[in-house]
Amino acid sequence: MEKRWVEMKGHSEGDRYRQFFCHHPEAVFCFDCEGNVLDMNSSGKELTGYSLRELKGMAITSLVDFADRNKAVRYFERTLEGRKQNYQIKLRHKTGKVKALRVVSLPLDDGPEVTGVCFIVRKVGDPKQEKETAQYLVDYDRSTELPNKSQLRKLLGGELESRRSGTLMAFHLENLKSVNETLGYQSGDLILKEVAKQIKKVAADAKVVARIGGNEFALLFSGMSDKGEAARTAQKVLNVLDKLFELDGPAFSLSGNIGIVQYPEDGREVEKLLKNANQAMRSAKEQRKNHFEFFSAEINEKMVRRLKLESGLRKAIQEKALKVVFQPRIDARSFKVVGMEALLRWHHPELGSISPGEFIPIAESTGLIVPIGEWVLKTACKQNKKWQEAGHVPMRISVNLSVLQLKQDDLVETVARILEETGLEGRWLELEITEEMLMGTEKETIRTFHKLRKMGIQMAIDDFGTGYSSLRYLKDFPVNRLKIDRSFIQGIEGNQKLRTIVETILSLAKGLNLNVTAEGVEEASQHAFLKERHCDEVQGFLFSPPLSDQDFQSFLLSNGHATGEVKCPV
Ligand code: C2E
Ligand code: CA
Ligand code: CA
Repeated sequence: MEKRWVEMKGHSEGDRYRQFFCHHPEAVFCFDCEGNVLDMNSSGKELTGYSLRELKGMAITSLVDFADRNKAVRYFERTLEGRKQNYQIKLRHKTGKVKALRVVSLPLDDGPEVTGVCFIVRKVGDPKQEKETAQYLVDYDRSTELPNKSQLRKLLGGELESRRSGTLMAFHLENLKSVNETLGYQSGDLILKEVAKQIKKVAADAKVVARIGGNEFALLFSGMSDKGEAARTAQKVLNVLDKLFELDGPAFSLSGNIGIVQYPEDGREVEKLLKNANQAMRSAKEQRKNHFEFFSAEINEKMVRRLKLESGLRKAIQEKALKVVFQPRIDARSFKVVGMEALLRWHHPELGSISPGEFIPIAESTGLIVPIGEWVLKTACKQNKKWQEAGHVPMRISVNLSVLQLKQDDLVETVARILEETGLEGRWLELEITEEMLMGTEKETIRTFHKLRKMGIQMAIDDFGTGYSSLRYLKDFPVNRLKIDRSFIQGIEGNQKLRTIVETILSLAKGLNLNVTAEGVEEASQHAFLKERHCDEVQGFLFSPPLSDQDFQSFLLSNGHATGEVKCPV
């Protein structure tokens, strides 16, 4: 199967769609929202007698027989509302001849907005077959040949009306997007078809297996009211992904999650059940890959909070409700403040202070982390420059980078622009990334690191020890510093294993000429242990929690003013 996918890689996605459009045996027309022709394929030319040049900009009504113009407008408007239409209409050929044709009219969208309409037109044939085809198009997904969401709604509605009990599963396929991006949409389609086939096989007793979205399936089991049986079935469905792709190596591994609802307990209406199944699926997805979860009141609460945070976060950016705080980084020997880490804070107007551990993943999953991260970087650089201008000893500021930021093609340009705008020299900036972020796009990331290093910026690996701690990363990536995760520091006093791990990291770093910062230092004994083993820097509540800009400044002043020396807390 892999070979077939690889062979399709030659053309760009745009090329392939263009070819598909041009050579489609049915006439295809694209209209803007006003109903003017934007494009058509060669079958369209045959059908109307007009060339694309003649037709471009022409209104839909001038293509339709006079008697059918109101009908055409009506159906066009319904499509603009986002609903697919399927109807018969009389078109007028350039020669004046009128033909009865079947039109499937689809909204073209760009995200939630409808930006135009597409017509697929064919001649009216055998009325019985026509009716069947039309019904098929309304009820089925053409790619997988599975029933679609509207058909699922009908069947689920029937179940509820006849007061039956049963189970509905929402199955979301992960990584399909990256397969589409790397191998092309045709390969993505092939995978979808194969997944559909396998699900049908393992869920043979399902009343229906439907495709309800781009990468979402639903399985309806009439009469299945036992939770254990539902759980076993869900696991079998998830196992399909392991079996299916075990031959294709890690690059093609697909994962998925399932949300399960049982009716009537979890809802007596179609839409509510679909919504609850989707919530359970999202909650399962947050837990881990290839996991299923049953819907529950707690999940509902969690998801409602998540939705509030998600919409709140969008507003927080506009309303400037985000803040950056600064935690001092201290030289373990001299107690001098050698830098600070910029950390994000958010006070939600209704839910109060939200920890970054909760909102950063939301910002990442919605993509909001990119503008937010840029804002943090700018704020941090600006503030650091301000302290330098106020006469403090210049210090390096660390800023956390999210994986999404690292994937942005223009990351290096963005950082360069921010340095330029704020006037901070690159050598006073350090960027922190976690180990997991180094996986995958390795070559590009190494190039990015080199470019950033050239600008004088230091690179640090954050939370070191919690990820893969691969020595290969340390060899390949041009980093300056390791930050030992606080889970290794806390409890170090009474735990020989932790002590050995920390000692090993420290000697490894020394051997590779890397600086080390220990995070989460709360106790004097932890500091003493680290100092004895030549750890360079410490950061933690023993010295200071993260502080507002004013408090950080007072901290500097009360601890030795311009030299930034901390009074020995030990
Ligand atoms: P991190 O980068 O590992 O940041 C260190 C975290 O440890 C901070 O949590 C800090 O307040 C906390 N901490 C410092 N000293 C101590 C201590 O002695 N004891 C304990 N128990 N905790 C200590 P915070 O601010 O809640 O941030 C959590 C995580 O959120 C950060 O972990 C980082 O991964 C992420 N984060 C925070 N700000 C940003 C940001 O601007 N961008 C991105 N991408 N992530 C951020
Ligand atoms: Ca960090
Ligand atoms: Ca950390």
